[in-house]
This record gives sequence, C-alpha cells and structure tokens, in this order.
Amino acid sequence: TLRPYIVGNWKMNGTRAMLSEARAIDRAAQRYMKVEVAVAPPFTLLHAVHREAEQIGVGAQDCHANQDGAHTGDISATMAADAGAKFVILGHSERRQDHGESDALVLAKTGAALEAGINVILCCGEPLEVRESGDAEKYVLDQLRQSLPEALESASERLTVAYEPIWAIGTGKTPTLDDIGEMHAAIRGFLVDRYGAEEGSEMRILYGGSVKPENAREILAVGDVGGALVGGASLTADSFMNIALAA
Ligand code: 13P
Repeated sequence: TLRPYIVGNWKMNGTRAMLSEARAIDRAAQRYMKVEVAVAPPFTLLHAVHREAEQIGVGAQDCHANQDGAHTGDISATMAADAGAKFVILGHSERRQDHGESDALVLAKTGAALEAGINVILCCGEPLEVRESGDAEKYVLDQLRQSLPEALESASERLTVAYEPIWAIGTGKTPTLDDIGEMHAAIRGFLVDRYGAEEGSEMRILYGGSVKPENAREILAVGDVGGALVGGASLTADSFMNIALAA
C-alpha cells in the first residue's frame, strides 16, 4: 500500500529566501520515511527546490493543456517536468475562481500532465452555499466525473485526489471529522467505480483546508484520508513537518 502523502502547496508565496525552508523540509523528511512528503513551490522556485530535494517530491501548481506553442506567460507540463516537477496540482479552487478554469479545462490539463509523464493531484471541493444546501457530495462527484480521465493505467500511482472544501481554505474552519469521512468515502466509491477495485481502493485521497499541526492527527486518522494538502502551514519547515509527523 502507498504511504500517507503530505503535500505542501506554497501558492503565490516564496522567494529564494524560502530555499532554506525547502532544505529543512527535505532533511526532516529523510527521518520520516514512512510518510511521502512533497512540496509545490511557485514556478520561479521549482528548479531550485528540485536541486535541494534529495528525499521530497517536487511539483508544480498548474500547467497548460498544450505542451508548447504561442501561449504567452503559460508553462507546459513538459516544461515543468524539465524543471524537476514529478507532479502537478490541477483544478485548485483558486485556479477555478481566479482564472475561470472549467472541469473540461482541468480534464485537458490532466491529460497533458499524464502525457508529459508527471503525476496529478486533482482538487475538488464545494463552496459554502453548496455545503449548506446539502448538495456537497453531488457537487464534488460531478467535478470528479468531468475532470478525471475515463481510464488510466496505474491510476493509484499516477493520480491523487484532494478534497478541499472552499470555505475551509485559509479560514481556520474545517468540516467535522464525520463530514470529512463521508465525503472521502463517497470519493472512494467513485474512484472504485471508475478505475476498478484494485486501483480505486489504493488511490490516495487527500484532505485540504486549514490543516495545522494541531488538527492533523485527528484528520489523518479518518477513514479514506490518505494524506493532506497543506497551504499556509506548509510555509515553514517546522509546522509542515509537524503535520507530516502526525501522519
Ligand atoms: P490552507 O492550508 O492555507 O487552508 O490551504 C489549503 C489549500 O488550498 C491547499 O491547496
């Protein structure tokens, strides 16, 4: 079975001064080998973090749906892989909101990343109104249905799903442990349906949204939670590795 997966999403944070933090995360990860640790720095730091990393995985936070061409300001999965990325985070709610990314575009980007040979962490998650109206499960499964490939070889190695309720991101709020467990079980059912019992039951489903050292242990103990996607608390080696230690 796959190890628990603890991934730091640095978002639009970090200058070269953050490289010492990446180094500290890598050193600590060498002592927690039962956990798989990774970070997704901004593109400007991708190659430099890759060079610091002996143990941790390094990934990108987005890629284009094409591998090259006339797309000013964009970065392709091939280019991210060349800079050292082993995975890419796709479909993050901040990309969906800030850049109007649709499920169809996320699906196209997922295909491009897999074609370029890097793995995908596919994000899903409902806004507050949807949670309050009781339709969160349907909303999230619809997102997955439309943004994940129909079939994929070695799906459990190549694809990770991250459930990130939008109202929990950067707010200090988290769903109840029961709500996390129910959503992850629903996602598990979907993955088994789509990729078969063997791969679908092995695939990791991360929880994201206000994960901190203080709440990591109880969240990571919930059934079908295979790790965490961490924003704010991944920006220092100390808090990030205390989350990894809780896995
Ligand atoms: P926070 O951990 O800052 O709430 O962010 C979660 C997230 O969006 C990770 O992708």
